[in-house]
Amino acid sequence: MSEESKLKPATLLAHGGRRPEDDNGDVAPPIHPSTNYARGEDYGLINPAAGYSRDSNPGYPPVETLLARLEGGAEAMLLASGMAAAAAVVQALRPGDHIVAQKVMYWGVRDWLIGFCADWGLGLDLADAADPAALAGAVKPGRTKLIWIETPCNPTWDVVDIATAAEVAHKAGARLVVDSTVATPVHCRPMDYGADMVMHSATKALNGHGDAVAGLLVTARADEFWTRVRANRALGGAVLGPFEAWLLHRGLRTLHLRVERASANALAIARHFEGHGSLEAVLYPGLESHPGHATAKGQMRGGFGAMLSFQVKGGAAEALEVAGRCRLAVRATSLGGTESLIEHRASVEGANSPVPANLLRLSIGIEDVGDLIADLEQALNGI
Ligand SMILES: *Cc1c(COP(=O)(O)O)cnc(C)c1O
Repeated sequence: MSEESKLKPATLLAHGGRRPEDDNGDVAPPIHPSTNYARGEDYGLINPAAGYSRDSNPGYPPVETLLARLEGGAEAMLLASGMAAAAAVVQALRPGDHIVAQKVMYWGVRDWLIGFCADWGLGLDLADAADPAALAGAVKPGRTKLIWIETPCNPTWDVVDIATAAEVAHKAGARLVVDSTVATPVHCRPMDYGADMVMHSATKALNGHGDAVAGLLVTARADEFWTRVRANRALGGAVLGPFEAWLLHRGLRTLHLRVERASANALAIARHFEGHGSLEAVLYPGLESHPGHATAKGQMRGGFGAMLSFQVKGGAAEALEVAGRCRLAVRATSLGGTESLIEHRASVEGANSPVPANLLRLSIGIEDVGDLIADLEQALNGI
Protein backbone atom coordinates (compact mmCIF):
# COMPACT_ATOMS: atom_id res chain seq x y z
CA MET A 1 0.00 0.00 0.00
CA SER A 2 1.26 3.52 -0.72
CA GLU A 3 2.13 5.73 2.26
CA GLU A 4 2.02 2.46 4.17
CA SER A 5 4.54 3.42 6.83
CA LYS A 6 2.19 6.03 8.31
CA LEU A 7 -0.94 3.89 8.42
CA LYS A 8 -2.27 2.35 11.62
CA PRO A 9 -2.91 -1.41 11.95
CA ALA A 10 -6.71 -0.99 11.79
CA THR A 11 -6.40 0.76 8.42
CA LEU A 12 -3.95 -1.79 7.00
CA LEU A 13 -6.22 -4.64 8.14
CA ALA A 14 -9.41 -3.10 6.73
CA HIS A 15 -7.75 -2.98 3.29
CA GLY A 16 -6.27 -6.46 3.68
CA GLY A 17 -2.79 -4.91 3.36
CA ARG A 18 -3.19 -4.41 -0.39
CA ARG A 19 -4.54 -2.11 -3.12
CA PRO A 20 -6.87 -3.23 -5.92
CA GLU A 21 -4.34 -2.01 -8.48
CA ASP A 22 -1.84 -4.58 -7.11
CA ASP A 23 -3.99 -7.16 -8.91
CA ASN A 24 -6.51 -6.63 -11.74
CA GLY A 25 -8.43 -4.00 -9.86
CA ASP A 26 -10.10 -6.65 -7.66
CA VAL A 27 -11.43 -4.80 -4.61
CA ALA A 28 -11.73 -8.10 -2.71
CA PRO A 29 -8.55 -10.21 -2.74
CA PRO A 30 -8.42 -12.79 -5.55
CA ILE A 31 -7.85 -16.52 -4.98
CA HIS A 32 -5.22 -18.50 -6.90
CA PRO A 33 -5.96 -22.23 -7.03
CA SER A 34 -3.40 -22.95 -9.79
CA THR A 35 -0.61 -25.30 -8.66
CA ASN A 36 1.87 -24.09 -11.31
CA TYR A 37 2.56 -20.90 -13.21
CA ALA A 38 3.68 -20.22 -16.76
CA ARG A 39 7.03 -18.68 -17.70
CA GLY A 40 7.63 -15.94 -20.28
CA GLU A 41 9.57 -16.25 -23.52
CA ASP A 42 12.79 -15.46 -21.63
CA TYR A 43 11.88 -18.35 -19.31
CA GLY A 44 11.52 -15.96 -16.37
CA LEU A 45 8.51 -16.31 -14.08
CA ILE A 46 5.76 -13.82 -14.90
CA ASN A 47 5.33 -13.18 -11.16
CA PRO A 48 8.38 -14.16 -9.02
CA ALA A 49 6.00 -15.22 -6.20
CA ALA A 50 4.22 -17.64 -8.55
CA GLY A 51 6.12 -20.69 -9.76
CA TYR A 52 4.91 -23.77 -7.98
CA SER A 53 2.37 -23.61 -5.15
CA ARG A 54 4.43 -25.61 -2.67
CA ASP A 55 7.06 -22.81 -2.78
CA SER A 56 4.55 -19.97 -2.54
CA ASN A 57 1.12 -18.95 -3.75
CA PRO A 58 0.27 -15.47 -5.10
CA GLY A 59 -2.31 -15.32 -2.30
CA TYR A 60 0.39 -15.51 0.40
CA PRO A 61 2.53 -12.34 0.01
CA PRO A 62 -0.17 -9.75 0.80
CA VAL A 63 -1.12 -11.69 3.96
CA GLU A 64 2.48 -12.37 4.97
CA THR A 65 3.55 -8.77 4.40
CA LEU A 66 0.56 -7.48 6.34
CA LEU A 67 1.19 -9.77 9.32
CA ALA A 68 4.95 -9.12 9.35
CA ARG A 69 4.11 -5.43 9.45
CA LEU A 70 1.57 -5.85 12.27
CA GLU A 71 4.04 -7.86 14.37
CA GLY A 72 6.95 -5.53 13.59
CA GLY A 73 8.97 -8.37 12.05
CA ALA A 74 11.17 -8.69 8.95
CA GLU A 75 9.31 -11.54 7.24
CA ALA A 76 6.31 -13.80 7.82
CA MET A 77 5.36 -17.21 6.54
CA LEU A 78 1.97 -18.91 6.32
CA LEU A 79 1.87 -22.62 7.09
CA ALA A 80 -0.65 -25.45 7.02
CA SER A 81 -1.58 -25.09 10.73
CA GLY A 82 -0.37 -23.71 14.02
CA MET A 83 1.20 -27.09 14.78
CA ALA A 84 2.97 -27.08 11.39
CA ALA A 85 4.37 -23.65 12.30
CA ALA A 86 5.67 -24.94 15.65
CA ALA A 87 7.12 -28.06 13.99
CA ALA A 88 8.84 -26.01 11.27
CA VAL A 89 10.78 -24.12 13.96
CA VAL A 90 11.71 -27.14 16.09
CA GLN A 91 12.72 -29.21 13.06
CA ALA A 92 15.18 -26.46 12.08
CA LEU A 93 17.22 -27.37 15.19
CA ARG A 94 19.93 -30.03 15.10
CA PRO A 95 20.25 -33.24 17.13
CA GLY A 96 21.77 -32.47 20.54
CA ASP A 97 20.26 -28.97 20.69
CA HIS A 98 18.24 -28.17 23.79
CA ILE A 99 14.85 -26.44 24.17
CA VAL A 100 13.32 -24.82 27.22
CA ALA A 101 9.54 -24.68 27.00
CA GLN A 102 6.78 -23.61 29.30
CA LYS A 103 5.32 -26.16 31.71
CA VAL A 104 1.76 -24.88 31.34
CA MET A 105 0.85 -24.08 27.76
CA TYR A 106 -1.27 -25.23 24.83
CA TRP A 107 -1.22 -29.00 25.37
CA GLY A 108 -0.88 -29.89 21.66
CA VAL A 109 2.47 -28.11 21.36
CA ARG A 110 3.70 -29.36 24.75
CA ASP A 111 2.77 -33.00 24.09
CA TRP A 112 4.23 -32.93 20.57
CA LEU A 113 7.47 -31.39 21.88
CA ILE A 114 7.83 -34.08 24.56
CA GLY A 115 7.44 -36.89 22.04
CA PHE A 116 9.37 -35.32 19.17
CA CYS A 117 12.35 -34.22 21.26
CA ALA A 118 12.69 -37.71 22.79
CA ASP A 119 12.53 -39.38 19.37
CA TRP A 120 14.85 -36.99 17.51
CA GLY A 121 17.65 -36.44 20.01
CA LEU A 122 16.72 -32.95 21.16
CA GLY A 123 16.98 -32.01 24.83
CA LEU A 124 13.84 -30.55 26.44
CA ASP A 125 13.17 -29.02 29.84
CA LEU A 126 9.81 -27.65 30.92
CA ALA A 127 9.92 -24.65 33.26
CA ASP A 128 7.52 -22.24 34.93
CA ALA A 129 8.20 -19.41 32.49
CA ALA A 130 6.33 -16.88 34.65
CA ASP A 131 9.18 -17.33 37.19
CA PRO A 132 12.36 -15.82 35.63
CA ALA A 133 14.65 -17.73 38.03
CA ALA A 134 13.04 -21.06 37.04
CA LEU A 135 13.36 -20.16 33.36
CA ALA A 136 17.03 -19.19 33.72
CA GLY A 137 17.68 -22.33 35.79
CA ALA A 138 16.39 -24.59 33.01
CA VAL A 139 18.80 -23.15 30.43
CA LYS A 140 21.82 -25.29 29.54
CA PRO A 141 24.57 -22.86 28.45
CA GLY A 142 25.99 -23.77 25.05
CA ARG A 143 23.21 -26.27 24.33
CA THR A 144 19.97 -24.34 24.68
CA LYS A 145 19.05 -22.96 21.25
CA LEU A 146 15.37 -22.17 21.78
CA ILE A 147 13.12 -20.86 24.54
CA TRP A 148 9.45 -21.41 23.72
CA ILE A 149 6.79 -19.49 25.62
CA GLU A 150 3.07 -18.78 25.27
CA THR A 151 1.52 -15.67 26.79
CA PRO A 152 -1.17 -15.42 28.03
CA CYS A 153 -1.02 -19.21 28.23
CA ASN A 154 -3.65 -21.93 28.10
CA PRO A 155 -5.72 -22.43 30.18
CA THR A 156 -4.79 -20.38 33.27
CA TRP A 157 -3.84 -17.29 31.21
CA ASP A 158 -0.61 -16.93 33.18
CA VAL A 159 1.47 -14.12 31.75
CA VAL A 160 5.16 -14.42 30.88
CA ASP A 161 7.30 -11.29 30.92
CA ILE A 162 8.55 -11.35 27.32
CA ALA A 163 11.43 -8.91 27.88
CA THR A 164 12.79 -11.01 30.77
CA ALA A 165 12.44 -14.26 28.80
CA ALA A 166 14.24 -12.61 25.85
CA GLU A 167 17.06 -11.55 28.15
CA VAL A 168 17.43 -15.10 29.50
CA ALA A 169 17.41 -16.51 25.96
CA HIS A 170 19.89 -14.04 24.52
CA LYS A 171 22.31 -14.41 27.44
CA ALA A 172 22.42 -18.12 26.61
CA GLY A 173 22.78 -17.49 22.86
CA ALA A 174 19.30 -18.93 22.28
CA ARG A 175 16.26 -17.64 20.38
CA LEU A 176 12.98 -16.71 22.03
CA VAL A 177 9.83 -17.87 20.23
CA VAL A 178 6.48 -16.59 21.50
CA ASP A 179 3.17 -18.31 20.77
CA SER A 180 1.04 -15.16 20.66
CA THR A 181 -2.18 -16.81 19.46
CA VAL A 182 -4.20 -15.62 22.46
CA ALA A 183 -2.85 -12.05 22.57
CA THR A 184 -3.08 -11.42 18.78
CA PRO A 185 -1.04 -8.59 17.22
CA VAL A 186 -3.86 -6.23 18.18
CA HIS A 187 -2.94 -6.54 21.87
CA CYS A 188 0.74 -7.50 21.90
CA ARG A 189 3.82 -7.35 19.68
CA PRO A 190 6.35 -9.71 21.30
CA MET A 191 9.19 -8.47 19.06
CA ASP A 192 8.92 -5.03 20.68
CA TYR A 193 10.11 -6.82 23.85
CA GLY A 194 12.93 -8.77 22.24
CA ALA A 195 11.28 -11.94 20.88
CA ASP A 196 13.09 -13.41 17.88
CA MET A 197 10.10 -15.15 16.41
CA VAL A 198 6.31 -15.07 16.87
CA MET A 199 4.05 -18.02 16.17
CA HIS A 200 0.28 -18.00 15.72
CA SER A 201 -2.38 -20.58 15.24
CA ALA A 202 -4.08 -18.51 12.53
CA THR A 203 -6.96 -20.97 12.89
CA LYS A 204 -8.00 -18.87 15.89
CA ALA A 205 -8.56 -15.08 16.08
CA LEU A 206 -6.57 -14.20 12.94
CA ASN A 207 -9.02 -16.07 10.73
CA GLY A 208 -11.71 -15.67 13.36
CA HIS A 209 -14.59 -17.52 11.74
CA GLY A 210 -13.85 -21.14 12.60
CA ASP A 211 -13.60 -22.20 8.97
CA ALA A 212 -9.88 -22.55 8.16
CA VAL A 213 -6.91 -24.27 9.82
CA ALA A 214 -3.75 -22.20 9.32
CA GLY A 215 -0.47 -21.25 10.97
CA LEU A 216 1.87 -18.28 10.92
CA LEU A 217 5.48 -17.55 11.80
CA VAL A 218 7.00 -14.08 11.90
CA THR A 219 10.74 -13.55 12.29
CA ALA A 220 12.61 -10.51 13.56
CA ARG A 221 15.49 -11.26 11.16
CA ALA A 222 15.70 -13.13 7.87
CA ASP A 223 18.82 -15.02 8.98
CA GLU A 224 20.26 -18.49 8.33
CA PHE A 225 17.94 -20.10 10.90
CA TRP A 226 14.92 -18.57 9.17
CA THR A 227 16.13 -20.04 5.86
CA ARG A 228 16.12 -23.46 7.51
CA VAL A 229 12.61 -22.86 8.88
CA ARG A 230 11.44 -21.76 5.42
CA ALA A 231 12.74 -24.97 3.89
CA ASN A 232 10.44 -26.91 6.20
CA ARG A 233 7.49 -25.38 4.39
CA ALA A 234 8.75 -25.46 0.81
CA LEU A 235 10.49 -28.86 1.01
CA GLY A 236 8.87 -30.33 4.13
CA GLY A 237 5.59 -29.49 2.45
CA ALA A 238 3.63 -27.87 5.30
CA VAL A 239 1.84 -25.54 2.87
CA LEU A 240 -1.44 -23.73 3.36
CA GLY A 241 -4.09 -24.34 0.70
CA PRO A 242 -5.02 -21.34 -1.50
CA PHE A 243 -8.62 -21.32 -0.29
CA GLU A 244 -7.53 -21.35 3.38
CA ALA A 245 -5.10 -18.49 2.66
CA TRP A 246 -7.98 -16.59 1.06
CA LEU A 247 -10.32 -17.24 4.01
CA LEU A 248 -7.61 -16.05 6.39
CA HIS A 249 -7.13 -12.90 4.32
CA ARG A 250 -10.88 -12.29 4.41
CA GLY A 251 -11.03 -12.81 8.19
CA LEU A 252 -8.09 -10.48 8.82
CA ARG A 253 -9.97 -7.53 7.36
CA THR A 254 -12.13 -7.40 10.51
CA LEU A 255 -9.46 -8.56 13.01
CA HIS A 256 -9.25 -5.25 14.81
CA LEU A 257 -13.00 -4.90 15.38
CA ARG A 258 -13.46 -8.53 16.37
CA VAL A 259 -10.57 -8.62 18.84
CA GLU A 260 -11.46 -5.31 20.47
CA ARG A 261 -15.09 -6.37 20.93
CA ALA A 262 -14.31 -9.87 22.16
CA SER A 263 -11.73 -8.57 24.65
CA ALA A 264 -14.12 -5.93 25.96
CA ASN A 265 -16.78 -8.64 26.38
CA ALA A 266 -14.29 -10.94 28.16
CA LEU A 267 -13.27 -8.20 30.60
CA ALA A 268 -16.92 -7.39 31.38
CA ILE A 269 -17.70 -11.08 31.93
CA ALA A 270 -14.61 -11.63 34.12
CA ARG A 271 -15.53 -8.62 36.26
CA HIS A 272 -19.18 -9.64 36.48
CA PHE A 273 -18.51 -13.23 37.60
CA GLU A 274 -15.51 -12.65 39.89
CA GLY A 275 -16.74 -13.60 43.37
CA HIS A 276 -19.84 -15.45 42.06
CA GLY A 277 -21.20 -17.91 44.61
CA SER A 278 -20.83 -20.96 42.32
CA LEU A 279 -17.22 -20.12 41.39
CA GLU A 280 -13.95 -20.78 43.17
CA ALA A 281 -12.02 -18.49 40.79
CA VAL A 282 -12.20 -16.48 37.58
CA LEU A 283 -8.88 -16.56 35.72
CA TYR A 284 -8.37 -13.57 33.41
CA PRO A 285 -5.24 -11.40 33.06
CA GLY A 286 -7.39 -8.27 32.87
CA LEU A 287 -8.51 -8.77 36.50
CA GLU A 288 -6.39 -7.09 39.15
CA SER A 289 -6.58 -10.31 41.18
CA HIS A 290 -4.75 -12.25 38.43
CA PRO A 291 -1.06 -12.87 39.27
CA GLY A 292 0.01 -11.79 35.78
CA HIS A 293 -2.02 -8.58 35.68
CA ALA A 294 0.84 -6.11 36.15
CA THR A 295 3.02 -7.82 33.52
CA ALA A 296 0.07 -8.04 31.13
CA LYS A 297 -0.61 -4.34 31.58
CA GLY A 298 3.00 -3.61 30.73
CA GLN A 299 3.21 -5.62 27.50
CA MET A 300 -0.38 -5.69 26.20
CA ARG A 301 -2.35 -2.72 24.92
CA GLY A 302 -6.03 -2.16 24.23
CA GLY A 303 -7.18 -5.27 26.07
CA PHE A 304 -6.24 -8.62 27.55
CA GLY A 305 -7.71 -11.03 25.02
CA ALA A 306 -10.88 -13.07 24.66
CA MET A 307 -9.86 -16.08 26.78
CA LEU A 308 -10.81 -16.68 30.40
CA SER A 309 -11.43 -19.64 32.67
CA PHE A 310 -13.94 -20.36 35.41
CA GLN A 311 -13.06 -22.70 38.24
CA VAL A 312 -16.38 -24.03 39.44
CA LYS A 313 -16.94 -24.89 43.12
CA GLY A 314 -16.79 -28.68 43.18
CA GLY A 315 -15.15 -30.94 40.63
CA ALA A 316 -15.52 -32.29 37.12
CA ALA A 317 -19.21 -33.16 37.60
CA GLU A 318 -20.17 -29.62 38.60
CA ALA A 319 -18.07 -28.07 35.80
CA LEU A 320 -19.65 -30.37 33.20
CA GLU A 321 -23.10 -29.54 34.56
CA VAL A 322 -22.47 -25.81 34.06
CA ALA A 323 -21.21 -26.42 30.50
CA GLY A 324 -24.25 -28.60 29.83
CA ARG A 325 -26.63 -25.85 30.94
CA CYS A 326 -25.21 -23.22 28.55
CA ARG A 327 -27.69 -22.28 25.84
CA LEU A 328 -25.58 -19.63 24.05
CA ALA A 329 -21.90 -20.48 24.54
CA VAL A 330 -21.25 -23.49 22.30
CA ARG A 331 -19.68 -26.61 23.86
CA ALA A 332 -16.71 -26.97 21.53
CA THR A 333 -12.94 -26.70 21.39
CA SER A 334 -10.85 -23.99 19.67
CA LEU A 335 -10.97 -20.25 20.28
CA GLY A 336 -11.02 -16.82 18.70
CA GLY A 337 -14.26 -17.14 16.69
CA THR A 338 -17.24 -14.80 16.52
CA GLU A 339 -19.33 -17.08 18.75
CA SER A 340 -18.48 -17.85 22.39
CA LEU A 341 -17.28 -21.36 23.22
CA ILE A 342 -17.11 -23.24 26.51
CA GLU A 343 -14.84 -26.22 27.03
CA HIS A 344 -14.01 -28.66 29.82
CA ARG A 345 -10.29 -29.00 29.07
CA ALA A 346 -9.62 -31.90 31.46
CA SER A 347 -12.12 -34.06 29.51
CA VAL A 348 -10.48 -33.14 26.20
CA GLU A 349 -6.85 -33.57 27.33
CA GLY A 350 -7.38 -36.95 28.98
CA ALA A 351 -5.77 -38.78 31.90
CA ASN A 352 -2.40 -36.96 31.98
CA SER A 353 -3.90 -33.48 31.84
CA PRO A 354 -2.51 -31.05 34.44
CA VAL A 355 -5.65 -28.89 34.05
CA PRO A 356 -7.84 -28.75 37.20
CA ALA A 357 -11.00 -30.89 36.88
CA ASN A 358 -13.22 -27.94 37.86
CA LEU A 359 -11.92 -25.64 35.11
CA LEU A 360 -14.06 -24.42 32.22
CA ARG A 361 -12.26 -22.55 29.43
CA LEU A 362 -14.25 -19.83 27.71
CA SER A 363 -13.49 -18.27 24.35
CA ILE A 364 -15.56 -15.11 24.36
CA GLY A 365 -17.07 -14.00 21.06
CA ILE A 366 -18.48 -10.76 19.73
CA GLU A 367 -22.10 -11.28 20.83
CA ASP A 368 -24.06 -8.80 22.94
CA VAL A 369 -22.37 -9.01 26.33
CA GLY A 370 -25.70 -8.84 28.20
CA ASP A 371 -26.87 -11.97 26.38
CA LEU A 372 -23.64 -13.77 27.28
CA ILE A 373 -23.80 -12.77 30.94
CA ALA A 374 -27.46 -13.85 31.19
CA ASP A 375 -26.64 -17.26 29.68
CA LEU A 376 -23.66 -17.88 31.98
CA GLU A 377 -25.65 -16.62 34.96
CA GLN A 378 -28.48 -19.12 34.40
CA ALA A 379 -25.93 -21.90 33.81
CA LEU A 380 -24.08 -21.13 37.06
CA ASN A 381 -27.15 -20.47 39.16
CA GLY A 382 -28.66 -23.83 38.19
CA ILE A 383 -26.05 -25.93 39.95
C1 LIG B 1 -4.79 -23.97 18.52
C2 LIG B 1 -3.49 -23.58 19.08
C3 LIG B 1 -2.29 -24.10 18.58
C4 LIG B 1 -2.28 -25.15 17.47
O1 LIG B 1 -2.72 -24.59 16.26
P1 LIG B 1 -3.51 -25.41 15.12
O2 LIG B 1 -3.86 -24.35 14.12
O3 LIG B 1 -4.68 -26.08 15.77
O4 LIG B 1 -2.56 -26.41 14.56
C5 LIG B 1 -1.11 -23.66 19.14
N1 LIG B 1 -1.09 -22.76 20.14
C6 LIG B 1 -2.22 -22.24 20.64
C7 LIG B 1 -2.14 -21.24 21.75
C8 LIG B 1 -3.46 -22.63 20.14
O5 LIG B 1 -4.58 -22.12 20.66
